[in-house]
Amino acid sequence: MSKAKAVVICGGGVIGLCCAYYLARVGHRVTLIDRGAEDRDHCALGSAGYVSPSQILPLAAPGLPGLALKGMFNPRSPFYLPPRLDSELLRWSWLFWRACRRRHVARSAPVLRDLCTASHRLFEEFDDIAGGVCEFERRGRLELCKTREELARQEARLARVASALGVEARVLDAGEVAALEPGVRLDVAGGVYFPGDCHLTPARFTAALTQLLAEMGVRLQWNTTVYGWHADGGRLAAVRTTAGDIVADEFVLAAGAWSPSLAGELDLGLPLQAGKGYSLTLPQPRFRPRIPMIFTEARIAVTPLNGSLRFGGTLDLSGVNTVVRPERVRQIIESVPRYFPDFRAEDFAEARPWCGLRPVSPDGLPYIGRFRRYRNLIAASGHAMLGVTLAPITGKLVAEVVDGRQPSVALSPLSPDRYA
Ligand SMILES: Cc1cc2nc3c(=O)[nH]c(=O)nc-3n(C[C@H](O)[C@H](O)[C@H](O)COP(=O)(O)OP(=O)(O)OC[C@H]3O[C@@H](n4cnc5c(N)ncnc54)[C@H](O)[C@@H]3O)c2cc1C
Repeated sequence: MSKAKAVVICGGGVIGLCCAYYLARVGHRVTLIDRGAEDRDHCALGSAGYVSPSQILPLAAPGLPGLALKGMFNPRSPFYLPPRLDSELLRWSWLFWRACRRRHVARSAPVLRDLCTASHRLFEEFDDIAGGVCEFERRGRLELCKTREELARQEARLARVASALGVEARVLDAGEVAALEPGVRLDVAGGVYFPGDCHLTPARFTAALTQLLAEMGVRLQWNTTVYGWHADGGRLAAVRTTAGDIVADEFVLAAGAWSPSLAGELDLGLPLQAGKGYSLTLPQPRFRPRIPMIFTEARIAVTPLNGSLRFGGTLDLSGVNTVVRPERVRQIIESVPRYFPDFRAEDFAEARPWCGLRPVSPDGLPYIGRFRRYRNLIAASGHAMLGVTLAPITGKLVAEVVDGRQPSVALSPLSPDRYA
């Protein structure tokens, strides 16, 4: 490690927590700031909890612009983009559209594979350190298709790319899926099974991390809002917060969907949109599959979590707000009996819908690394659907950047200046 530095992390979601952990581990003096309380809601809490080395296809891929266009006028589409006049959304949409090319997928899949694989290893290590409290399960993950056409598409699109990059993927017919989940009646044509995938209980993971951080001497500054900066030429001197100015050597921008607004006055031009997703958790479901699964056509993730069953999904680019739209929640509820015929919409009558804002970059790759404009400001945001999976490697990479060490994964495709 270089000499111990004072590092301020702005944002205490799963990404900020992991940055704090890896920075404190190598001896830096870390302050983590979040405007919420210790028991605040954050995006990982209601997530599906997948730790997926197999998620190697970026969100920006061929076929997505068509889905987004359809979603402009259909609030029940899994990908909903209500039209609104917003220059940042227009810029983001243009960059997203440009990224939805085969060439981009071919370039990004190995990058995501390296990040996901490295992060998976760190989860294994963290699970040992935390003594198994995160309910980290190694049961793989199924992507289920209702129709043969979709199965053929998934096989061609996902399973082949995964296998070519060394990620184990098995294409299964309906009988083989049933053999993996003998207690569950499924109405599907088949699916792809990723045996290397894992899942955990997100609330347990972030609680274990928070406790460890306190034990490691990290200053956890809850109920503190960042509202500005003191810049000194090409460096930042301090962050302005409701608890006063905080001076540091290095600053980490880890405020999820709020990262652009938090850094607004720094004029970083970071394209990022909030991708709202919903989840519903049934404490006593009719049955619980053993293996987490995605309903491919409906884009719903199903996770067995410590006795309960969570259904999550939808991507709603309607700005930074946490308004729960009943038609979006209904889209999830009505999809479930199509795959699980024994489930009824009434099963969800008591379930309280949760929503969270994913920080979504236009090309589906996170932003990790130093900004050119302010050399002591480091980005750790834009993880979209992969924030839980990639949190440990993001934290480790940020610590490597602070120390000036060789990063464990090449950072150039993740540069926060790639659109500047
Ligand atoms: C339905 C759903 C399912 C998902 N499932 C998965 C999954 O299975 N696997 C996976 O890998 N990912 C999943 N994700 C994505 C993942 O949850 C996110 O990518 C991740 O949680 C983002 O974390 P973050 O720390 O970047 O942001 P956040 O959790 O949003 O944290 C940002 C923090 O910054 C704080 N903040 C904001 N503004 C300020 C300010 N001005 N001052 C101080 N603090 C501020 C906020 O209070 C917040 O705590 C899912 C997401 C959703 C919505």
